[in-house]
Amino acid sequence: MQSIILAVGAINLSTVNRNVELICIGNELLIGKILNTNAHWLARRITSLGLLVRRITVVGDDLDEISSAIREAIQRKPSFIITTGGLGPTFDDKTLEGVAKAIGCELEENKEALEMIKKRYEQYVAEGRIKKFELTKYRIKMAMLPKGAKPLPNPVGTAPGVLVKYEGVNLVMLPGVPQEMMAIFDESVVPLLREVAGNMVFYEASLEVRGVPESDLAPLIEQVMRENPYVYIKSHPKISEKTSYIELHFSTTSEDSSVARQRIERSIMHMSELISERGGKVRPIQA
Ligand code: ATP
Repeated sequence: MQSIILAVGAINLSTVNRNVELICIGNELLIGKILNTNAHWLARRITSLGLLVRRITVVGDDLDEISSAIREAIQRKPSFIITTGGLGPTFDDKTLEGVAKAIGCELEENKEALEMIKKRYEQYVAEGRIKKFELTKYRIKMAMLPKGAKPLPNPVGTAPGVLVKYEGVNLVMLPGVPQEMMAIFDESVVPLLREVAGNMVFYEASLEVRGVPESDLAPLIEQVMRENPYVYIKSHPKISEKTSYIELHFSTTSEDSSVARQRIERSIMHMSELISERGGKVRPIQA
């Protein structure tokens, strides 16, 4: 049985806005050159922290597309909007310009960000990775942040992440390179998400079902969900070694990890009984 549990500090969750939207930016995603692994990784991490990813949007490296995606997301008032991509030095890295346009502010040279970038290049010189460091306009570009923004240190690359608070929404901009995105997320964004999610726990488990077609599972899923209202059950039809089976995925979030576990165990037991009454077979799927 697969499970993810994360529990941190106490907070009253009934009044907390835990909604998160992701906006992934890059033409390479739209033409299918690059698989959007950033969205997949972020969705999984954010869910495991007890927050709710409500929407994932992909747009190209186009200023108007970026700013309108951000403006539309702001109107839905999530707690966080997290973007990936487009923070680099090249002409098509337009994320920060798009954010500035969306919230109606200017880009300005951010001293802290410039220091971070300088330090990184000086380190590259010291390591012999580059011969010398010059503060070119392309490097300064990475320090041009929306007014009032906070740069988030990039432990593995040059372009810092960026945090902007606007009308109660935390706008977090992360680079596209997965290793850089993950490092900034873990170091600077997770603490912010935890402040919102408090001690929320996400718990999940999967069952492999054989011998009952998905159409016959449909009423059983409805029945078990009705009797376990906090558990979400999703069927995933699969084919392996030419035989088909269904993965039934059970998930829940709660402020109490033992409550979450009990809910899932109870609904799995119930579902297993119903399936075996219909001649099917179940077994837990290991993580
Ligand atoms: P850099 O500072 O290195 O230029 P950046 O923030 O400008 O980074 P992009 O130029 O948009 O990021 O993307 C850099 C690389 O990261 C892309 O070539 C691609 O390989 C990878 N990448 C971008 N977006 C994603 C994504 N959503 N999922 C997986 N990989 C991605």
